[in-house]
Amino acid sequence: MTQAINSTQALYRCLPAMDSLLLIPQVIGLTEQQGKAWIKSLLAQMLNDARHNIAKHQSMPSWCQQPNDIVTELKKRIALQQRQSMNPVINLTGTILHTNLGRSQMCEAAIDAVISVMRHPVPLEFDMGQGKRGHRDTAISALIHELTGAESCCIVNNNAAAVLLMLAATAAGKEVIVSRGELVEIGGAFRIPDIMVQAGCKLVEVGCTNRTHLKDYVAAITENTAAIMKVHTSNYHISGFTKVTEEAELAALCKEKGIALISDLGSGALTDLSRFGLSKEPMPQQMLADGVNLVSFSGDKLLGGPQAGLVVGDAALIAKLQSHPLKRALRCDKMTLAALEATLMQYRNPATLDVHLPIFKKLSRPLVELAGLAQLLMSVCHDFSALFEVSVQASQTQVGSGSQPDVLLDSLSLCFSPKPESPLSLLQLDNLFKTASMPIIGRLANNRLWLDLRGCDNEAQLEQVLLQLGHKLANGEPLETGVLR
Ligand SMILES: *Cc1c(COP(=O)(O)O)cnc(C)c1O
Repeated sequence: MTQAINSTQALYRCLPAMDSLLLIPQVIGLTEQQGKAWIKSLLAQMLNDARHNIAKHQSMPSWCQQPNDIVTELKKRIALQQRQSMNPVINLTGTILHTNLGRSQMCEAAIDAVISVMRHPVPLEFDMGQGKRGHRDTAISALIHELTGAESCCIVNNNAAAVLLMLAATAAGKEVIVSRGELVEIGGAFRIPDIMVQAGCKLVEVGCTNRTHLKDYVAAITENTAAIMKVHTSNYHISGFTKVTEEAELAALCKEKGIALISDLGSGALTDLSRFGLSKEPMPQQMLADGVNLVSFSGDKLLGGPQAGLVVGDAALIAKLQSHPLKRALRCDKMTLAALEATLMQYRNPATLDVHLPIFKKLSRPLVELAGLAQLLMSVCHDFSALFEVSVQASQTQVGSGSQPDVLLDSLSLCFSPKPESPLSLLQLDNLFKTASMPIIGRLANNRLWLDLRGCDNEAQLEQVLLQLGHKLANGEPLETGVLR
């Protein structure tokens, strides 16, 4: 008899029916709030899980016994599915502009600007009585002119799009000359030769990987040549027996031959970065002064703004870009333009860039401040010390996103290495860090988990998260819940 009660079949029969679940008053409330189809599908999943539980363990899950427990479980599942995928994380990877973590963080002015244009109608392409607006980039054009001297500009979705549009609008069906030392690949299948094909241009390679001379360019010019393109080798560095032909020399040649000189700058810095400990990055304003006709660069690399591609330069050429059909496909929305405008405005006062732009704030942070932070954090990590050796180690931060590959900034990292008796591996600790209320993303190297403190935005918050994780660890939670297996 007891056997019969305990039998699996009996347990299945004890499972509530869907119809009865939908009649629980709180469930009725939830279906009204959240939509019946979704709640029903969650309940179906719960019943399914319960059946699996019975099959596997010959028992009901504990939440299946009482209507109250069922409602609690349902609410838990609702909350879990309402978590958005783009929750913030703490980037302590040692790479400031991490492409996979969304590159640039925005300045407060940009954040405010975006919120405002999200909430209200704005005169994106509307004549407010001050003369007809040409297009949605006009407002930024004036600011770009002020900052770089460029006659005009064209803003698109990213720099890859900027290069594509620049080539398609100025050189489709024609030849474009590029040095063999500048046939760059940027991550994610962006290769200069491929972009040329997509833009309908014929790539003419000149020179050698390490040396390209003016005479190489001269010899390659034909009646079919539309442009010479320079590409900033932003993510690698060739040293030794090298020779590049400078923009100013090429500009004179292009002018004489009546062809365009265009340049993909990649990162593009609007201010001299040497005071932040970085090397000299070519600046668009310098390129224009040297006689380059069009310069393109990213909005979310060293500029510190939203993802965007900026093409700046001669008004006549920019007009071609603006009227090209691809522009309509590649144009930016009002949020990007608002964030970009607010970011660019910061450059009116370069002296305060490291106060307002997160990227420069981080890059310029003195080592003694990081030492203070490290000490503070060490004092909240005692809960880790049973299983992990916690220490402060010298480390180096890189800029990232292919910018300034030869620059490494001195930094400090909080390091965790497992003690011999630790049941948790480093990989599991790394996973634990990723389950935090605000996940911490570090870097695994040399049998240690490194948290590079130069990436920290909010010290109190980091302290809190480490405390919380330490508690979880001390309570044995990671092993019990099996989350980490
Ligand atoms: C980064 C980079 C690109 C691509 O820019 P995105 O903004 O990532 O599209 C193109 N060219 C160069 C030289 C770059 O460094």
